[in-house]
Amino acid sequence: MSMGLIDDELQEVNKLCQHVITGSKLVSCVQTMVRVEIRRTAFKHIVACIQFPSDYPRSPLLIELKSKTLSDKLLDGLTNVCEQEAKKILGKPQVLTVLKFIRNFIDENPLSCCYNEISAIKKDLSEADELKLKQKRSSLSLKISQGGYYFRTRILVPDIYPEHSISLEDVETNFPPLFQRYFVGQSKEIARQCIEAPAKPRKKNEAPFRPSPSLQPVVSFLVASVKQIPQESCQLCNKKCLPQDPELAETNENGESHVERVYCSHLFHLQCLITYMKTPPFHGGKKCPKCGQRIYHDKWRVSEKVAENRWGHQQARERELREVTEFLE
Ligand SMILES: [Zn+2]
Ligand SMILES: [Zn+2]
Repeated sequence: MSMGLIDDELQEVNKLCQHVITGSKLVSCVQTMVRVEIRRTAFKHIVACIQFPSDYPRSPLLIELKSKTLSDKLLDGLTNVCEQEAKKILGKPQVLTVLKFIRNFIDENPLSCCYNEISAIKKDLSEADELKLKQKRSSLSLKISQGGYYFRTRILVPDIYPEHSISLEDVETNFPPLFQRYFVGQSKEIARQCIEAPAKPRKKNEAPFRPSPSLQPVVSFLVASVKQIPQESCQLCNKKCLPQDPELAETNENGESHVERVYCSHLFHLQCLITYMKTPPFHGGKKCPKCGQRIYHDKWRVSEKVAENRWGHQQARERELREVTEFLE
């Protein structure tokens, strides 16, 4: 090992590191170990531990990367490519080149902060689905399909992830509008809950709230819902809620075969639900035949009493009508 050569390199690293590698902090810079912290955000934070092999610089540097936040698998991969970079410049000083390479990698691969989440998401997807990573735009383009139905969106991962949550853009779907609103609204809510502390006061021994990654929770919800809904039946007539051909799905929200999603999350054809809501018994409120929960829905904010009266009036009218027709016969 050429001690003089390493000493020269250490001096150069000492002088230049913090200037040429943005967000870096030189923790130690001696023959036995060069240790540098490289930080873009609190989450995109890597500690590089570098050692000189005995025949340096004819052999590549020995590199170990650590991070409290980034995935171990990602660090393993990055370590490998760093070694490849070092091998390209054998015989020359390698430390600053490798450190620059790490910083560039963090900058050019913003999605590396959700490496584990993306691996888990891929396992949830089927052949029919699509997931493309767009590192340049720090976004993922996702298309989930079930039969002829699909939901497509671009998911933005902000630089200050996970303190800031992901967001959905350019949503495109052939589900009826009610489901589009549900998918988007619920995704926003799930993402919000990942980064905002709940309103209720925290218990004494409870750890303080910390923002958590929102990508996987949102995508898991979307995958499960998009796959499930086209297979669900109306809880009253037991036929599939949505037609097999999305082109035939009712988009008029007052149409008979429009699909309603009530408080308990079960689905009903609008006409099936209207008939059910207007038919006795009314006592105790109308309940979902599937799960037994009360049916709450903005469209039917009528009290039991009113429903009963309406039913009574309708019956009376029908009786009158019957009497009239019978009289005419
Ligand atoms: Zn029905
Ligand atoms: Zn229900």
